[in-house]
Amino acid sequence: MTTHSSSAQILDGKALSVQVLDELQATVSARIAAGKSQPGLATVLVGDDPASHIYVRNKRRACKKVGVASFHHELPAETGQRRLLELIEKLNQDPKVHGILIQLPLPKGFDYDENEVLSTIHADKDADGFHPFNQGALLQGREAPIPCTPKGVMRLLDLAKLDLSGLHAVVVGRSNIVGKPVALLLLARNMTVTICHSRTKDLAAEVRRADVVVAAVGISELVQGDWIKPGAVVLDVGINRNAEGKLVGDVDFHAACQNAAWITPVPGGVGPMTIGMLLQNTVEAASLKD
Ligand code: NAD
Repeated sequence: MTTHSSSAQILDGKALSVQVLDELQATVSARIAAGKSQPGLATVLVGDDPASHIYVRNKRRACKKVGVASFHHELPAETGQRRLLELIEKLNQDPKVHGILIQLPLPKGFDYDENEVLSTIHADKDADGFHPFNQGALLQGREAPIPCTPKGVMRLLDLAKLDLSGLHAVVVGRSNIVGKPVALLLLARNMTVTICHSRTKDLAAEVRRADVVVAAVGISELVQGDWIKPGAVVLDVGINRNAEGKLVGDVDFHAACQNAAWITPVPGGVGPMTIGMLLQNTVEAASLKD
């Protein structure tokens, strides 16, 4: 952990993600030494979105690093939903595949229905935790694969070693992949949770009450430094380019450092954790089949 020039301590996602991958590598080696199956992750990329190609490449590299088998499938954008679903069904049946990841977004202008595609993945192989069954399990507080970015947020929050029970969390953003699952995970830790969104009347007033702030909006530096309650923990999920083309989060980092006790930087905070959590979900899925 490094200390910033002001009072806030940095929650270092880059360092923690290296540690997570090292731990997973040890777990996978021990599995294989014990004669258990090698965990396998299937990645499916439809179309030729350059950013998606980079994301999938990074996920496959991480598989290699920790010893998870990587099964990659690339389909042209015009493949169509029927063939994509057939591939998913095949992967559902394949005992070497423990996790299936469909890289989103699916190409626009074709007949893909994201919800139907994600629901076709077997819930036990849902490495991203986006299947409605698993989202329902999260709502009910039952064991299930947890979406990777929210899971990474919680791992970073745990570095602050706070007794969260009864504290107030404010989550800004209500997407199914970040805002809502993060809010449920915080609630499961007995926090009092407020979810803010684009129609929230006075965002500043809501954030000012927060002991823990999670920003998952996608607007450069929306959350102002003087909104942060002294001593709060700030977890910034946003990845944006500002007017100068610099990568920034949803929080004005430098100003927020004046008030926060703990804060994630962008880049190097929440972002690097996501791949580690994806592989953790895959390894956990394999161990459930032992
Ligand atoms: P999204 O667009 O699906 O949702 C954004 C949410 O922000 C919506 O719920 C909306 O109501 C809310 N919002 C919009 N304007 C607002 C305003 N003015 N005030 C308050 N709330 C407002 O986005 P998402 O998929 O949840 O992603 C959010 C951000 O997190 C993006 O910057 C994305 O790039 C980033 N992200 C990072 C990772 C990662 O680190 N690995 C993963 C997923 C998303």
